Amino acid sequence: MADSAEFDVAVLGGGTGGYTAAIRAAQLGKRTVVIEVAKLGGTCLHIGCIPTKALLESSGLYHKLHDRGREYGIVATDVAFDYARIAARRDGVVNQLWKGVQGLMRKNRIEVVLGCGVLQGGGRIQVDDRAIQARAIIVATGSSPRSLPGVELDGRRVINSDHATMAGELPGSIAIIGAGAVGVEFATFYRQMGATVTLIEALDRLVPLEDEEVSKALLQSFVRDGIDCRVAARVGGARAGKRDVTVSLEDGEIRADQLLVAVGRGPNSQGIGLGAAGVAVDERGFVEVDEWMRTSAEGVWAIGDLVGGYQLAHAAAHEGVVAAEDVAGRRVSPMEQELVTRCTYSTPEIASVGLTEAQASEAGREVKVGRFPFVANGRAVIHGETQGFAKIVADARTGQLLGAHVVGVQATELIGEPALARLFQGDPWEVGRNIHPHPTLSEAIGEAALAVDGQALNI
Ligand code: NAD
Repeated sequence: MADSAEFDVAVLGGGTGGYTAAIRAAQLGKRTVVIEVAKLGGTCLHIGCIPTKALLESSGLYHKLHDRGREYGIVATDVAFDYARIAARRDGVVNQLWKGVQGLMRKNRIEVVLGCGVLQGGGRIQVDDRAIQARAIIVATGSSPRSLPGVELDGRRVINSDHATMAGELPGSIAIIGAGAVGVEFATFYRQMGATVTLIEALDRLVPLEDEEVSKALLQSFVRDGIDCRVAARVGGARAGKRDVTVSLEDGEIRADQLLVAVGRGPNSQGIGLGAAGVAVDERGFVEVDEWMRTSAEGVWAIGDLVGGYQLAHAAAHEGVVAAEDVAGRRVSPMEQELVTRCTYSTPEIASVGLTEAQASEAGREVKVGRFPFVANGRAVIHGETQGFAKIVADARTGQLLGAHVVGVQATELIGEPALARLFQGDPWEVGRNIHPHPTLSEAIGEAALAVDGQALNI
């Protein structure tokens, strides 16, 4: 017997974007259902942000004790790792947070339907033999790793980030194609665990979307840490053998135990009934939305990796809030990509918000820039992590803060302050006037902001 139920809001996909949209909708008094094909929490919680950061926590600790303990006066002999326990800790972290998300659904009285939902048009979603009817639908089905022509994934020798994250053992050597967020985070992880790492990037620098000076600093650190970085490299193909894999480049071959393909993610827009519902997608399959996350179809919103822009969990969550508020007729502010913080958990970490120096110039701005190196920051010296810098990009005519870029220890925690300044339409001098606690890394942000007008104090 087909079952059918009516809701104010149905969210298709229970990842970070989807479940956050559902919470906001429920807070606004809407009877809400989330439809999820796998597990609540989606890519971020189960095979993305959370487990990879748990792995990086273990690798960072191992590396510090094994390779740098003496610098800190720690004499630890026979420092070793047990990968099964690292993997078990990773799973424990994920499970704890997964329980939290399930609890949030109960607390907000959100119904969760497990199954594959397909849009039918007219506010209907078919989930196996159950029909769900909703006044508004928010589609949040996310994305999946892409591959390359000539490179066939087998999940053993040739893997993507899903396989790498959930692996039960480590390769002795690995080649990684793509030096975006996934590529540089896994390069950090494998290198810290002692593997031989070759990082291959098609463009002429690592993390090509970041400010050029950030790319240079990362390259310097990676080379110092023994990562073989090949930029402006063309991959012809890859052959998996029994024992290893061979990657062909224009100027030779690389052999490694494994090959990780990290060349971006494509939208999960197939097989979910977007056509039937009249939802327009662009030529790459991303759903087209306006700044309120409305699609071309009346009554259908879309958020997260499915709509492109920055494919980041926190961007998806914010888009979920924007969509839910719009559904409820309670608009606060539209989605602004320029306010999205970008965070990469390599060593050194990278974080940014707003325009790079080059983007600001290309946009016709007269640019002034302030920089402050971590080597001049007391807390960074105490940490023993002095590589990198904070950089503030401002408009020379209006004084407006246009962008902030941090590469170095805990950059991802530091970006919140300039991001808030941008939200408040603050100027660098105001960030510089903020009284930062001492000794903290946050002083580097204040000093970089002061440096925009040549007023940095400690350099
Ligand atoms: P990405 O698009 O960020 O980077 C892919 C890189 O691969 C690019 O630098 C690109 O130039 C390169 N590339 C593409 N084709 C290539 C080829 N044939 N040979 C060599 N290099 C090639 O994608 P990603 O790193 O796979 O990440 C996917 C998405 O997930 C991104 O949007 C990313 O921001 C997000 N993500 C974010 C985090 C984080 O915030 N910490 C972590 C992981 C992933």
